[in-house]
Amino acid sequence: MCDVARAFFGDVNVNETGLYEAPCDRPLHVISEVTPPIVAAKARKGSRRGFSETTTHVNTSVFAVAKKGEHNLVKQIDEQVALHDIRRVLKRQLYVVLSAATDISFPWGSLTGVRPTQIALDALQRMDEEKATEELEGYWRLTSQKARLAVRTALAEEKILDKIHEHESMLYVGLPFCPSRCLYCSFITQDATRQKNALESYVNAVIRESEGVFDGTFQGKIRAVYYGGGTPTSLPADLFRRYLEEVLQHVPFAENVEKTMEAGRPDTIDREKLLIAKAFGFHKLCINPQTMQDETLRRIGRHHTVEQTILAFHLARSMGFMDINMDLIAGLPGEDSDTFLDSLERVIALGPESITLHALAIKRGSFLDRMFDDRATLLPDPALIEAVEVAHERLRQEGYRPYYLYRQKNCRSGLENTGFTRGGHASLYNVAMMSDRVPVIGLGSGASSKVIHEQKALRVHNPKDIKLYVDRVEEQILKKKTLLANA
Ligand code: SF4
Repeated sequence: MCDVARAFFGDVNVNETGLYEAPCDRPLHVISEVTPPIVAAKARKGSRRGFSETTTHVNTSVFAVAKKGEHNLVKQIDEQVALHDIRRVLKRQLYVVLSAATDISFPWGSLTGVRPTQIALDALQRMDEEKATEELEGYWRLTSQKARLAVRTALAEEKILDKIHEHESMLYVGLPFCPSRCLYCSFITQDATRQKNALESYVNAVIRESEGVFDGTFQGKIRAVYYGGGTPTSLPADLFRRYLEEVLQHVPFAENVEKTMEAGRPDTIDREKLLIAKAFGFHKLCINPQTMQDETLRRIGRHHTVEQTILAFHLARSMGFMDINMDLIAGLPGEDSDTFLDSLERVIALGPESITLHALAIKRGSFLDRMFDDRATLLPDPALIEAVEVAHERLRQEGYRPYYLYRQKNCRSGLENTGFTRGGHASLYNVAMMSDRVPVIGLGSGASSKVIHEQKALRVHNPKDIKLYVDRVEEQILKKKTLLANA
């Protein structure tokens, strides 16, 4: 419930009496109550025998507190719900009463989780597309555009997940180095150009981790591998070759393996590195402009130009890379709807197979976090929300369709990140990673691994600190092998 209150008010604290407090322009008092469970007998369709279902009453009220201390009821909701639904219904009720009291509403309504498509999928298991869209809009309070987006994307994700067989896993290989640090980055990235020695010992550690994890006791197959970071292509060419060759030589791949290389910074891409990536079977490439405005690139600390993005794209195309994704970010500092939509048009003109639209997230620990007043930046901005809708429509006109989406904390206007693709180029890895239905093995500092055990995701995380990771790589191997034994 704190997530919901934070969306409206920024900070939420617990006071000395155990009540939650949040800064608000006008005093409001909110009460949520759960009454004791009721076991209700229900008729079973087509049977004379009934069944019992434990439900409870969940009630939330918001009062405006007047100067004399009087409490005037603004809105109240009371529902009878199944016990397992209490948490999410309480969140929904809190959202509805706060929205009524503040006149603020967010595009994703009461949904605060990372994967809103999960809620859409739940609805699709009970009803058809149209009804599911109505439920998301009416009950969970999504805008009609987001409700439609969630349903369409949930259906696309399901089709993609169907391609993954039992005993197939995803592999992530991370490199926490970049040529410079972007303003909005909270990832522990190191300046690759100043860390020549660290690069080598890091690469050696990842090679060792791969050798240790895939030592013959690993039973499954890797269906998709993603080299991410950071920026893997920020390695010098000789080390980049080793990083691919010696990490991958231990990995048991499925026949139709998907291989993706994040070449996010266009200034790290050259013919030699693309040839190496190609030689090791990487057919999917990410070249991420984030914006096609030079002024913004300078402002956000990316030391490349729009021209470099365009050259990198054409170079990759000329070398036969026919499956390229490009990322853009909506809501970057100093940009408005026009600049964002202009960037989109320039990316569309290049014609990549996939375009991922992100909403700027103000992440803790980023340079950006120190520059912005959280609350004002995170409240809904109608112009930004509209610009993202226009962008979605433009992508649809160009034949791109949404195939995966996720949300992050502290995104501007409570927006989401949506991957669009056309021509059957959806990234299996992206969908599987977010799904909590497919095991993921993560190599490298900060990488997470997870297995699915009795429908629950069990995880282990490698240390984010690079030195700690390198020093304790044997420990990471053991932890991962123990985790995999539970799969
Ligand atoms: S390219 Fe990505 S990982 Fe590297 S600094 Fe920028 S946001 Fe961080």
